[in-house]
Amino acid sequence: MVKFHGMPGVKRIKITSRCNQRCLFCDSRTGAGPGRAAILREIAGRNGAQQLNITGGEPTLCRELPAYIRAARRAGYDRIRLLTNGLKLADAAYCRQLRRAGLDEAMVAFQHADAAAADLVCSAKGAQALRLRALKNIKASGIQLTANILIFSLNAPVLPDIVLYLYKEFGVNPVMFSFLEPNCDSVRARPWLAPPVGPALASLKRALEVCRKNGIGWLLPYHGALPACVYATAGIKLPRKEIAQGSDLGEGRIKGAFCAACRENGTCLGFLREYYGECLALLRTKRGRTAS
Ligand code: SF4
Repeated sequence: MVKFHGMPGVKRIKITSRCNQRCLFCDSRTGAGPGRAAILREIAGRNGAQQLNITGGEPTLCRELPAYIRAARRAGYDRIRLLTNGLKLADAAYCRQLRRAGLDEAMVAFQHADAAAADLVCSAKGAQALRLRALKNIKASGIQLTANILIFSLNAPVLPDIVLYLYKEFGVNPVMFSFLEPNCDSVRARPWLAPPVGPALASLKRALEVCRKNGIGWLLPYHGALPACVYATAGIKLPRKEIAQGSDLGEGRIKGAFCAACRENGTCLGFLREYYGECLALLRTKRGRTAS
């Protein structure tokens, strides 16, 4: 089963804040990365976690990455996943090195099948060419290859094409989708990055149909940018078994009065303020609900 951090049994560790891309929607290149000793302590303290997700910044920029993967293997995690933009994995020898160290899965951020659009999004000319080489290398090295598609304004209309391209050209299976969360400084500075929710959901529904027809696994995080009721307006059902622990309303999240009567209320994180108006309109239109 595809798992992501926040789910029970999954631990996440950030090993650097550095990155070799400048994605338009990213705020994670901030703060100093933790030191080696702290990272090793964190890896060793499994606390019952079966999966370790290694993130950054871009974790492949950290020279200690193979050592951290080996440490995770020794600590007894069943699954070690790397969340990466893929650029460094264009080096086949490096891919094999990570596999030998014990890496199970590379989840590669992939935002567009069109190279010009992809390079524009990550503000790194030539990045897509490297990423495509990386996809081949990951497969060849025996590391599980998963695509991580962030839904935003430029790729929202073409989600089915992206999924089909990844599957046909690189055998990518499964695919994880998540909606852009517009509550960060980078997106506040570029509000046009936020996808129109209704059309994006319709496109996602078509992409999931491509997945179904081709036997491609998919995942949508339950605690993502949109709540389950909004996905349901497009006929998309979030798998309840994927529900993460906790249901605190974080800053910038709200619920409607109608949530009190919803069976998801105990675990749902509600609406991101920035999407609330569009979500209410969808709920009213598609479900005839009196939402306020
Ligand atoms: S609790 Fe509210 S926001 Fe969450 S799924 Fe139910 S109706 Fe939607």
